[in-house]
Amino acid sequence: MGPPGAGKGTQGDLLARSLGVPRYSTGDILRKAQEEGTPLGREALRYMDAGELVPDDVILGIVGEVVSRPEAQRGFVLDGFPRTVVQARGLAGLLERRGERLDAVVDLLVEADEIRARLEARGRSDDTDDTIRRRLEVYRARTKPVLEWYDDSDVEVVSIDGVGLIQEIQQRIAERLGRGCS
Ligand code: ADP
Repeated sequence: MGPPGAGKGTQGDLLARSLGVPRYSTGDILRKAQEEGTPLGREALRYMDAGELVPDDVILGIVGEVVSRPEAQRGFVLDGFPRTVVQARGLAGLLERRGERLDAVVDLLVEADEIRARLEARGRSDDTDDTIRRRLEVYRARTKPVLEWYDDSDVEVVSIDGVGLIQEIQQRIAERLGRGCS
């Protein structure tokens, strides 16, 4: 978890590699669907370009599919999901049916000014001024409550300072998860 530009993709990828499990990024899956011009991609595009969230049922359909893949049976890292309490509840239901629960939620902390600077430098098609502003608002209003929901449901939320060198931040995550990730 973390605001746009917090480094979820970078850190999620390193974490998944060190754990030897797949990483699923809902943002990447949606962008791939757009490149391929699928109906999912076309539907998602209008939300993403406006900095809005893609509807929960669409996202839950995607996540339900990826976590049931054979490669995901030994675990997975989710990146950019869940972003709403409805998604978090949906994920809990999916996992419950598998007799599993989340090991941890990693929350990457980065200040708004740093976020704006990073996103302006990155320049993805949804990294325009208006969209960045809207995505930060949506993060505060819709995604922040997910962290409280996890706190209340006894899932460990590991807060990590997301400013520093990539390897340093990965080290902080590994230490806090206590699994000997490199
Ligand atoms: P960032 O976190 O930098 O905004 P992402 O790639 O995670 O980048 O997300 C890009 C966009 O994709 C979001 O602004 C949103 O429109 C859509 N999206 C990704 N994941 C979700 C999700 N779990 N729920 C709803 N929309 C999502």
